[in-house]
Amino acid sequence: MSADALRPAPAPPAGGPAAGVGIVWDEALCEYDFGPYHPMAPVRLSLTHQLARSAGLLERPGVQILPAPVATDQQLAQVHEGSFIAAVRHASEAADELTAEQYGELIRHGIGGDDVPPFPGMHTASARIVGGALAAVDAIVQGRLRRAVHFAGGLHHAKPASASGFCVYNDAALAVRRALDTGEERVMYVDLDVHHGDGVERALWNEPRAITLSVHQSGEHLFPGSGFVQDSGGPDAPGTAINVPLPPRTTADGWVRAIRATVPALVRAVRPTLLVTQHGADTHRRDPLADFSVTLEAHREAMLLMRELAEEVCGGRWLALGGGGYAVVDVVPRSWAQLIAVATGEPLDPAAALPADYLAAAAAARTAHGLSPEPGILTYGDGTPLAVRDWEQGFDPESALDRSVQAARRAAFPEWGLDPFLD
Ligand SMILES: [Zn+2]
Repeated sequence: MSADALRPAPAPPAGGPAAGVGIVWDEALCEYDFGPYHPMAPVRLSLTHQLARSAGLLERPGVQILPAPVATDQQLAQVHEGSFIAAVRHASEAADELTAEQYGELIRHGIGGDDVPPFPGMHTASARIVGGALAAVDAIVQGRLRRAVHFAGGLHHAKPASASGFCVYNDAALAVRRALDTGEERVMYVDLDVHHGDGVERALWNEPRAITLSVHQSGEHLFPGSGFVQDSGGPDAPGTAINVPLPPRTTADGWVRAIRATVPALVRAVRPTLLVTQHGADTHRRDPLADFSVTLEAHREAMLLMRELAEEVCGGRWLALGGGGYAVVDVVPRSWAQLIAVATGEPLDPAAALPADYLAAAAAARTAHGLSPEPGILTYGDGTPLAVRDWEQGFDPESALDRSVQAARRAAFPEWGLDPFLD
């Protein structure tokens, strides 16, 4: 029996919780664009939408397209400082004609340089990503939808007073904050991007009702240089920040092994009422900005696990966000189309052929971005099935991955009544 056979798409009973799934989409989300030489090219969003549409995912029963209105300053201020919002507005209105002094003020707020260069319309584009996240979380909290996917969201590095790591406003932290402010009892945020979810952790550091869990490449050798196991939350919220830093070159099997050894036990122990997950695709082996060797088959497995945990613990209430991902044509659209598939029902078969119209669009995008042709990418997966050895099958002290996982378990598990050697 395949793993999928054990995981039928959940069908809530009539009169039970909301069944629909929201997909946040608006072409204007592609206006979040730092320019032609920046790694975070918006074609990753348009191609994801194209693939989801070509695969018929947006016509599945119960699927609704959610709008992405521009968030108000008052909404942004739930996480961000007024001076920072003002700086972003300034950068977006006068990006082309800044004085050296004005530029210095922007730099103090993390705007400028190669990572977050100012561009016209930066505020509106960034606040629209937040608006999509708030629309999604509202629909779930109010019981209108069961789940939502916002693949343009997940900008997890943005700080209360500064932009960072390609991220201007932190839609993920704002979504969690909004859920708490509108009556959610306890929200858990699970971040699967290759980079530490530092901005979300920082924004919710001292909030006992928000539990952040980030699985990432160790900050010893990768941006943003944080997210170590001893970083566990503020004085009013001990244990609510959980970090699982993993060594460079972590494989697909190792990544899934690490996730299975940490996330399910902690989600079950925390018992959140809403699960928010971040699915940065930059763990992939083809990603140019990090050093993991993960596959689309592993992404799919992690997505199915998040869905399963939301079903088991949160009554199905799940908001899934995108995040990083810089193999913008070859990896990101396939990863996030899979996320949409998992959220809306049956997952996509990794061996199935990509739709012909999508392949044509991807080839055109590749040419437009000066990328060489990659004729080998014809299926939803990478053609490398998982062979995961689960944690219960034994700990290998010679393995750097296992030592990292066990260090994270030893730091986090006791805070939640779990035994790092038994659970
Ligand atoms: Zn990332």
